[in-house]
Amino acid sequence: MTARLTQEGPYRFRIEPTGEMRVPGVVFASRELLIEADQAVDQVANVATLPGVVEASYAMPDIHWGYGFAIGGVAATDPRQGGVVSPGGVGFDISCGVRLMAADIDDAGLRPVLQDVMNGLDPAVPRGMGRGAVWRLSGRQDMMGILTGGSRYAVERGHGDERDLLRCEDAGAVADADPGQVSDRAIERGSGQVGSLGSGNHFLELQRVAEVYDTAVAEVFGLRPDQICVMIHSGSRGLGHQICTDHVRAMEKSMARYGIRVPDRQLACAPLESPEGRSYLGAMAAAANYGRANRQLLAHAARQVFEKVAGARLDLVYDVSHNLAKMEEHPVDGERRLLCVHRKGATRALPPGHADLPDDLRDVGQPVLIPGTMSTSSYVLAGVPDGPAFYSTCHGAGRAKSRHQAARGVSGRELKARMERGGIAVRGASWRGLAEEAADAYKDVSAVIEAAEGAGLGRKIARLVPVGVVKG
Ligand code: 5GP
Ligand code: MN
Ligand code: MN
Repeated sequence: MTARLTQEGPYRFRIEPTGEMRVPGVVFASRELLIEADQAVDQVANVATLPGVVEASYAMPDIHWGYGFAIGGVAATDPRQGGVVSPGGVGFDISCGVRLMAADIDDAGLRPVLQDVMNGLDPAVPRGMGRGAVWRLSGRQDMMGILTGGSRYAVERGHGDERDLLRCEDAGAVADADPGQVSDRAIERGSGQVGSLGSGNHFLELQRVAEVYDTAVAEVFGLRPDQICVMIHSGSRGLGHQICTDHVRAMEKSMARYGIRVPDRQLACAPLESPEGRSYLGAMAAAANYGRANRQLLAHAARQVFEKVAGARLDLVYDVSHNLAKMEEHPVDGERRLLCVHRKGATRALPPGHADLPDDLRDVGQPVLIPGTMSTSSYVLAGVPDGPAFYSTCHGAGRAKSRHQAARGVSGRELKARMERGGIAVRGASWRGLAEEAADAYKDVSAVIEAAEGAGLGRKIARLVPVGVVKG
């Protein structure tokens, strides 16, 4: 563990501000989880140097190294103090996120038709590096509809129902998208990929509710023991990647003009109030809408398979991004301020009573969706009152081994056989891709969740285990 960290609580460590740091760093984790996080901890300190950063540069218990910001990093900047926005604080897969749906059948009901459902999903869920998507766009109009309307546009076109929007962050679309800031290249890359998982880490998984920790809240979320759920993890595909690339490049050039110096080139940024900052925010919001529409289409494809093969219905529990920057109001030094909250591999976790929650979730808080791995548990948490780090928590188990290291440990064929012996049906996109995603490539998700709960970032509601995985 790095020497710069001092322990402040059982799951809270502090990096004192030194050098150019404007605020301290705060890492929520256990000692064990921090053992190999040295480089990522340096990144937490680097983020603390960004102009206009307030309170602290935070990291969640699944922290690991990322581009510029650590994955698991959270930082807020104040536009009134020259605050910046940094594409590295959002990540290349803008609005990557998780959607959870609950079926009206339980495990016993699914088992007899599990292989049929998997065989139905296999061709219905486009994935892997190749092309192919649920939706063939009819032209530029359709793309503009997605970039400005997000899930709402997909639902209006018949790919879902009104309830899907109520249970989606921002009711399915953010209002501040500016497709004019999205390059032709980004639109071109994204146009053949609306309704596709992507590679490796992205998945569509059938899960069983293995444990419920709070029956009353689980019921409001729509979850009960033994129920079958579908979890989808995907983002904004080539469109988001290109937007990040374009805007990092533009900001690298403009930084000197604004007198901004950063300790790492990957922290390229621009003032929120500058043309470059506003341009990125508009393009990023468009990618956020694309990401939601993408998950909406994948959900709709899964629904059709479930209905046809299992005669079962899927209802949305929630859909939330874990790679996004958003303008939000938070109290800082006793004053409510409008801040740009960067969450990069971190999930927003609104507390009970929050005005941005739909009516039916108002009393219980936001469902927080935390995937683990394809052969261990995943969790559903709820946001808690006074949650630190601007109401944020972890977004997964977090990688422990590189893709390369993981693939050296086991072959894809071996892994699939092992999982199927354990009762998990597997439909991969490639053997290599599967091997890179072995459970031991990730940290222990239960330890990460224990740290998240122990640090007061969220509260456990349910634990889900995999039944069938369609892997990107
Ligand atoms: P990321 O957004 O950083 O790529 O991934 C988020 C998290 O998803 C990872 O930290 C990991 O814990 C989890 N994850 C990756 N692959 C799978 C999978 O196949 N199934 C489940 N349930 N979780 C996964
Ligand atoms: Mn992603
Ligand atoms: Mn993701």
